Amino acid sequence: MDHARNVLVRAIKNLKVNNEHQAYIGLGSNLDKPIQQVSSAIEELAQLTASKLEQTSQLYRSHPMGPQDQPDYINAVVLISTGLEPQVLLSELQQLEKKHGRVRKGEQWGPRTLDLDILLYDDLILNKPDLVIPHPGLHQRAFVLYPLSDITPELDIPGRGKLSELLQNIPATGLERISA
Ligand code: ADP
Ligand code: MG
Repeated sequence: MDHARNVLVRAIKNLKVNNEHQAYIGLGSNLDKPIQQVSSAIEELAQLTASKLEQTSQLYRSHPMGPQDQPDYINAVVLISTGLEPQVLLSELQQLEKKHGRVRKGEQWGPRTLDLDILLYDDLILNKPDLVIPHPGLHQRAFVLYPLSDITPELDIPGRGKLSELLQNIPATGLERISA
C-alpha cells in the first residue's frame, strides 16, 4: 500500500515538473480553409506531448504582411504549460506545420496553410540561429498583440515592456475579431 502511494506521489510530482514552463504560441493560416486550419491546430496543440493547453484567444482576421497578393490571415494565440524545452517545442510545432501540408517556398511572409511560432517562453530571451524568443516582430504586430491580450492583458514582454503599453502604439486597423 505504501509502495503504491509512493509511486503515486512521485507521478504527481513529475507531472508538475513536466508542465513547469509557460509558452505562448502564435497561430496563422491563409490557405485551404484557414479557420479550420487554425481550429484543428488548436485541438492538436491540446494533445501536444508533456503539455497542457491552458488558454485560447479569440480568432482574428488580418491583412497580410509583406506580399499583398495573398488572402487574409486567420490568427490566434494559445497559452500552454509544457515540459518541452524550447528547441524540442519548436520541432514539435514544425511537425504540426508539416502535417497541415505547409510547404516552405523560401518566400518571406508568403502564404501558408499553418504557421506556428513560439512567441514567448517563460521570461526567456534566446537568440539562436533557428530560434529567437521573444519572437522577432511580435511587439509590433497587431495580430499577435491583441490575441495575446485576450489571454494575459497584464503580460510583460521580456526586453519590450508591458503589453498594455505596446498596444497603445499599435492600432487594431485591419484586424477583425471573428466568432469561430
Ligand atoms: P515566419 O514565421 O517569420 O513567417 P517561418 O515560419 O517560415 O517564418 O519560419 C522561419 C524560421 O523561423 C524557422 O525555420 C524557425 O527556425 C525560425 N524561428 C526563429 N524563431 C522562431 C520562433 N520563436 N518560433 C518559430 N520559428 C522560429
Ligand atoms: Mg513561423
